[in-house]
Amino acid sequence: MSNNISRRSFVKRSTAATAGVGLLSSNLLSSCAKIGDKKRPNILFIFPDQYRKQSLGFLNCDPVLTPNIDKLASEGVHFTNAVSNHPLCSPFRGMLFTGKYPLSNGVQSNCHSGRTEYGNFLKSDEVCLSDVLKDAGYATGYLGKWHLDGPTPTKPGEPKIWDSYCPPGPHRHGFEFWYSYGTHNRHNHPYYWVNDAKENERTDVNEWSPEHEANVMIDYLENKDGEFRDENKPFFMCWGINPPHTPFTEVPARYKKRFEGMTNEDLLNRPNVQTHFSEFNKESGFGDSGVEKKLDQAKDYFACVEGVDDQVGRVLDVLDKQGLKDDTIVIFCSDHGEMLGSHGLMHKNVWYNESYEIPFIVSWPKNIQPGEDNLLLSVPDIMPTLLAYLGLEDKIPEGVEGQDYSAVFNGEDFKRPDAALYFFDKPEEENEKRRGVKTHEYTYVIAYDRKNQKHVFLYDDINDPYQMTNIAGQKPDVEKELHMKLEKLLHETKDYFISYI
Ligand code: CA
Repeated sequence: MSNNISRRSFVKRSTAATAGVGLLSSNLLSSCAKIGDKKRPNILFIFPDQYRKQSLGFLNCDPVLTPNIDKLASEGVHFTNAVSNHPLCSPFRGMLFTGKYPLSNGVQSNCHSGRTEYGNFLKSDEVCLSDVLKDAGYATGYLGKWHLDGPTPTKPGEPKIWDSYCPPGPHRHGFEFWYSYGTHNRHNHPYYWVNDAKENERTDVNEWSPEHEANVMIDYLENKDGEFRDENKPFFMCWGINPPHTPFTEVPARYKKRFEGMTNEDLLNRPNVQTHFSEFNKESGFGDSGVEKKLDQAKDYFACVEGVDDQVGRVLDVLDKQGLKDDTIVIFCSDHGEMLGSHGLMHKNVWYNESYEIPFIVSWPKNIQPGEDNLLLSVPDIMPTLLAYLGLEDKIPEGVEGQDYSAVFNGEDFKRPDAALYFFDKPEEENEKRRGVKTHEYTYVIAYDRKNQKHVFLYDDINDPYQMTNIAGQKPDVEKELHMKLEKLLHETKDYFISYI
């Protein structure tokens, strides 16, 4: 494989990606019966932060090489239409672990000290995926970025606190092995609280966090002298890798090398990329601004992506060498994407594909036939789907709002969702709030801006895959149908926003 990226290869990749739109398959999968009483498989759940779907190398969209993730996908199922219903760190994690939407689990926006008084954190009495798996006999572990606790509120005038210590006990929700922090973006100088360490006993490290964590994960998998887990139990190990989250610049030089001298024009092949934050976005507050200054980091974002792939590959190699591959379901996803200049925006939160769609790969070659599936998978569906697949459907906690789609792995017919919710809210703000739906054909969003002005967005995702033209008002029948789907989702999730549509 060539290490050089040429402009021509970008164009080719971009064309291939466009041509692939709309050709998604479904119902490709068939596999063994449910797991039931046999020894359950291990689960290795890997989710880098802000890793956009377009940066899966095998999709030939972004100019990245991700051979390890590509291999994982080729041996597993790539869910082509998985979404992050609220494309932001803490809300994703809240939905993932509780199987509930943000208004039901209280993690409405990112956890920081200014939101703790609104209950914007994961409560200790929620029954999480990890609680259920521990009770079902799993050895459990959490490695990396957690970002689900509420830091102690600060006094007026004092700066906000983002990070927080998660003490051993109910706030860790059944996770036994613990090598984690709340949130910080010190990729080159991370710190962690390890197992029973007290708040003043954190471990500081001078190593790129994905590399350091891969080393920890390798130790966990090798489990010399049974130091990390009980070998007689299957394990559930979660790895919340922080990169390619900002700051993109904090990535080892060896990963930057391949992109040296590359410009944004060389690297950003999506036709919806704009190098200026629009007046409309400035006025409305939609999206994270600063694209003018930040776009020069595109090369570093891609370097982070390739570095993450490399570290994930080290771990997957060890999983194989240790003879664990046959007994382990590997799930790879991300909490949201990265706009990287598309629509003149950086980062996440918005409804556009670059932010809202996520990678989602489930790989267990021994039992799950590889392929791709266009299931419109929402984050709260992950918990009930996984539990049911493991034969633990009767342990799905009451109040879970996600649906069990485990039939997708068993070759059974099942009712597929026809819409996924888009959600944006801040508990401390009256005005800024948005809801929407994504179907296989359209994206439809009702958004209230900073000044409480209402805006409607509608995109034809088949004929306009880069969402270049807002066609709200131009297709009344389509809009009416999408409006009804949104209404239904809001009704099901008891969302107050129903009175705003
Ligand atoms: Ca995030």
